[in-house]
Amino acid sequence: MLTSSELISLVREYDRNANADLLRKAYVFAMEAHGVQKRASGSPYFYHPAEVARFLAELRLDVQTVVTGLLHDVLEDTNVSFEELEEIFGAEIAFLVDGVTKLSKINYTSSKTHQAENFRKFLLAISQDIRVLIVKLVDRLNNMRTLNYVASIEKRKRVALETLEIYAPLAERIGMNVIKDEMEDLAFYNLHPNEYSAISLRLDQIRKKDHNFVQNTTLELKKVFKAAGIEANISGREKKVYSIWKKMQRRNVSLEQINDIVAFRIIVDTVQQCYLSLGVIHTNFQIMPGRFKDYISIPKLNNYRSLHTTVIGPLKQSIEVQIRTEEMHRVADEGVAAHWSYKNDDVVAPSDDPKNYGWIKSLLTIIQNSGTPDEAMDHSKMEMFENEVFCFTPTGDLITLPHGATAVDFAYEIHTVIGNTCIGVKINGKMVPLKTVLRNGDQVDIITSPYQRPEAAWERFVITGKAKACIKKFIKAQEKAEFTDLGLQLMKYIFASSTDINFSEDLIDIKRFSCDSVSKFYYNLGKGIISADNVRMMIPKSGNRMSIHENSICLVDFTPGIAVHFAECCHPILGDKIIGILVPQKGIVVHITSCDCIERGGNTFIKVKWNQDDEIDATFIARLRIVILNETESFAIITNIISSKGANITNLKVEHRSTDFFDLLVDIKVIDVIHLGEVQAALRTCANVRSVRRL
Ligand code: MN
Repeated sequence: MLTSSELISLVREYDRNANADLLRKAYVFAMEAHGVQKRASGSPYFYHPAEVARFLAELRLDVQTVVTGLLHDVLEDTNVSFEELEEIFGAEIAFLVDGVTKLSKINYTSSKTHQAENFRKFLLAISQDIRVLIVKLVDRLNNMRTLNYVASIEKRKRVALETLEIYAPLAERIGMNVIKDEMEDLAFYNLHPNEYSAISLRLDQIRKKDHNFVQNTTLELKKVFKAAGIEANISGREKKVYSIWKKMQRRNVSLEQINDIVAFRIIVDTVQQCYLSLGVIHTNFQIMPGRFKDYISIPKLNNYRSLHTTVIGPLKQSIEVQIRTEEMHRVADEGVAAHWSYKNDDVVAPSDDPKNYGWIKSLLTIIQNSGTPDEAMDHSKMEMFENEVFCFTPTGDLITLPHGATAVDFAYEIHTVIGNTCIGVKINGKMVPLKTVLRNGDQVDIITSPYQRPEAAWERFVITGKAKACIKKFIKAQEKAEFTDLGLQLMKYIFASSTDINFSEDLIDIKRFSCDSVSKFYYNLGKGIISADNVRMMIPKSGNRMSIHENSICLVDFTPGIAVHFAECCHPILGDKIIGILVPQKGIVVHITSCDCIERGGNTFIKVKWNQDDEIDATFIARLRIVILNETESFAIITNIISSKGANITNLKVEHRSTDFFDLLVDIKVIDVIHLGEVQAALRTCANVRSVRRL
C-alpha cells in the first residue's frame, strides 16, 4: 500500500514546497475514518482513496486535489461531517470533497424526470470547480480496475455501462484520454468479455506474426529524421481493444482490414518542427489520400492538437503517424488535468480561467450530440438531456431551461422583477436581442432598467410557464389601468365635443350604466362595454352651439398594444397625420388619415394626436360625387347641410343631368376625415340625396 511518505515524496517531485503536514494529516484522517471497512476485494477500504491520491499525484495536480483524493469517500461512507472537514482542512478542500460526494450520489438510471434534475446537480457540482470532476473520474477509474472483485455480474455490468455511457465520454470531453482509454477497455471487458478476448487474442497473433514490425518501423523512421536533421522522439503505440472494436463496428471491417492498429508518435520541440516533420514523412513515404488531418490549426473541441497522416511505411505497410509537441502530447493524454497541474509555483485557479464556461459549453455540446453514428455504443443516457438547455449567470449560477428558451425566459427564471424590467441582454459578452434563443453553456447577463415594462410582444416568444404567467399578469394589470385611463380621456373628449359645460366626474350618472364605481365606468367606456354614443346622449347640453374637434386624445399616455393599437393596414409612424377608430373590446385603433379603412361606414372616430405639442392640422379639400333628385329645392338643401356642418363649398359642377337625377361634383373644405365623414353622413340622411361618394 502507498505510504504517506511515498505520497509526500511523489508530490514533492513536482512541488518542492508542498505542504507535507497537510498530506500526512489527510492520509491519517482518511485511514482512521474508514477504519476496518473492506473493499469487495477483501483489502482495507483505505487502499482505494490512497490509490486515487497516487493517481492524482502522478497527474501532478495541486496538493488540494491530492488531499481531496484521500478524503473523497469520507463524507459518504463514514461518520465525518462537512463541518468537521471544513474545520480541519479548510473551506476549499471541504468544498471539493463535498462536490465529489454529490457527483457520486447522482443516479443515472433513475426515472426520466429525475435524470434531468440529476444532471442539473451534476453540472452544478462540476461547474464550480473542474477538479471535482477530475477526482471523480480518477475515483471511477480505480473502481473499474477492481470491478472484477465485485461478485454480482449484474452490478458489474451496470457499473461498466455507466462508465462507458457517462464517465468515459466525460473523460474524453475534458481531454483526459489516458483515463478514457483505460475506462473503455475495462468497461468493454466487463460488458462483452467474449469480444474482448477475441480481439485480444487476434492482437497477440498479429504481434507474434511480425514481432519486429513496431521496432523496425520506428528504427527506419528515426533514420529518416536523423537524415533530415530534426530531433524527434519516435515511438509506436498499439491501439486499445475497445477503440479497435469501435473501428470494426463503424467501418464494418474485420480486424485484418484495420491497418492502423499501431500508431507512430513523433514528438518534437516546436509547432514549426511539427510541420517540418510532416514534410519529412510525406517526402519519404507515399501518402494515403484522405487521411491527413491538421488538428494543430483546428484543434478538437477538447483542445486535442496533433497532425495525423497515414502513409505506406518503410516496411510497405500503411501506418498512421501522429506528430505533436511535448506540450500537445501532455494535453492529449491528460487534457484539463495538464492545464491544472502544478507548474512553477503557480497553479491556475478556476475563476482565473477565462475559458471557465467555454469547456462546459463544449462538454454539453458533446454530451447532447453523443448519439452520432461515430459512436458504436448507444449513448442514450446522455441524450435524455436534449430537451434542456443549461446556462449560467455572470456569477456562475446554473440556470436550467427548456430547449428553445429565450433571454426573457432566463430573466424571469432568475426573478420576476428581473424579468419585468429586463431591457437588454449580453450573451457571452455580446449584446443580442431579448428574443434570442439560448444555447448550452451560454453565459447570460440580463440588463435591467427601472423604467422598462414587460411588452405584450414578449408573450409571442417566451416558452416557460413562469415567464408567460408573469407577462400575462403584468399586461392584465396594465390593461386595466390603460382602459380606465382611456375611458377618462374619452369622457373628457365626449364632453368637449358635445357641450361647453366643464367636465366633472359628478356629472356622470354611473348608476345608469350599472357601474358601482367611477373607475369601473371609465374602464367599461374605454373597453367599449359602454358605448360612447350612449354616454354622449346623457351629457347635459348647453345653449351654446358647440364647436367640435377642439379636443383630441394624446397617444403618448398609452402603451401601444394594450388600449391603443396601431393599424396593421397602414402602420402609422410618429409624425403621420392620424385618426383613431373606437373598437369595442380593443380600444382605439390608430390609422393614418389617408388609410382606406376609415372610409368604411359604421366607425366611431376619435381624434388622436401623437403628443401634447401636436398642432391640430389645417383644412383640406375633398371631392364628393353627390347624386340628387332632380327637384328644385335639392340644391338648396345640400348646400345648407354642408354649411351647417361647418364645411365650405369651394367648387360645384353638374356633371350629368337626367330627368330624374343630377350628378354633382362638389369640392368641400373640411378639417379632416372625421369632419368629412360627418358631412357625408349628414348628406346621406337627406331624402333628396340618392348617393354620396368620395373621389
Ligand atoms: Mn471512491
